[in-house]
Amino acid sequence: MSRAVVALGANLGDRGSTLRAAAEAIAALPGVRPVASSREVESVAVTLDGPDTSKPRYRNAVVVVDTELEPQELLDALHGIEDDHGRTREVRWGDRTLDLDLVAYDDRSIDTATLTVPHPRAGERAFVLAPWLDADPDAELPGAGPVADLLAAVGDDTERVDEPRLFDEPARASRPATAPEGRLGAAS
Ligand code: ADP
Ligand code: MG
Repeated sequence: MSRAVVALGANLGDRGSTLRAAAEAIAALPGVRPVASSREVESVAVTLDGPDTSKPRYRNAVVVVDTELEPQELLDALHGIEDDHGRTREVRWGDRTLDLDLVAYDDRSIDTATLTVPHPRAGERAFVLAPWLDADPDAELPGAGPVADLLAAVGDDTERVDEPRLFDEPARASRPATAPEGRLGAAS
């Protein structure tokens, strides 16, 4: 079983409903178990030319899952969910109903024609780091360090959306059922 971090984004359509439906679809994938999810954040669209206030704003969130899928299998499944939400691919970094990126997969480094993990821009994007930290306060970006430190370095320009987490997680990401100090494992 591996742990994967998926970033969700949308700037067209009913963004909040799309993110919630996508999170549910991810959690329901065969070989995937939900671990934790963030609340949503909102931020200005970033295009290849930089921030663009004339574009619809983005909603972003992060989900953490445990999975038996290999990284490319998981990415293929994420693309299937994007397609189910009417995603088209005309312009790189263009407007989209749904974008699902594989941010991290355990502490593995992967670099193939179709998949780079950790996601190369995750450490510079407050709209990834802020919800990731919300889902998992102890999160670390492999090779880069604690997400809290990375977010402090880039500056958090996202706005928290006043809605519940994307799904009710069975346990928080950084608190395994058998905590090292036995706190959660102790009879109560
Ligand atoms: P972007 O998210 O950069 O706007 P797309 O979502 O259209 O662009 O993805 C472009 C390609 O990026 C995908 O076809 C996918 O194969 C590739 N890719 C490489 N690494 C990753 C990753 N970690 N997560 C998601 N897609 C990735
Ligand atoms: Mg993408």
